[in-house]
Amino acid sequence: MVARYHVAHLSSGEMLRQACDAGTVLGLKVQQYMSSGELVPDAIIIEVIQERLEQPDCKKGYLLDGFPRTIAQAEVLDAMLSARKTPLNLVLELHVPDDELFGRLANRGRADDKPEVIRHRLDAYHQQTEPLLDYYRSKGLLKTIDGSGSVEDVFDRARLVLEPLA
Ligand code: AMP
Repeated sequence: MVARYHVAHLSSGEMLRQACDAGTVLGLKVQQYMSSGELVPDAIIIEVIQERLEQPDCKKGYLLDGFPRTIAQAEVLDAMLSARKTPLNLVLELHVPDDELFGRLANRGRADDKPEVIRHRLDAYHQQTEPLLDYYRSKGLLKTIDGSGSVEDVFDRARLVLEPLA
């Protein structure tokens, strides 16, 4: 998607994993949360994203991937973006049933892909992140696509809803 739309890729999980690998103060703070499948505290991830949005490559637009994950994060994001006069264009939900997600993650081999950690991450999703669907639906920003099947199939579905933005 970032290649197709020429935008920066802001993956909150990737940024946190890099901090862990580099052994920075941030990495040490978030390690425990990540390895247990819990969300890291809002204040921490908000600071990370806020700093990232200052980078020059974000001027051409960006895809936020994995952020926001709580209503509190979404509210701060709204405030940040309205201060910059750059509101969100669209929020994309890739809808995948839990059992398919479980199978995909279990086959991926990342450190936080152990079965009990996956379960914890899915619980965190349903409790803390799923409420964002109503939040963005009420703002008229939400588009939902079927996220099951191959990468190519999902990309084709995503293109149909993203094309009007290009
Ligand atoms: P991901 O790569 O998006 O699956 O994220 C991996 C892990 O990073 C999550 O299980 C959380 O511990 C943490 N994380 C990533 N993004 C966020 C976020 N927006 N809020 C809180 N924790 C996050």
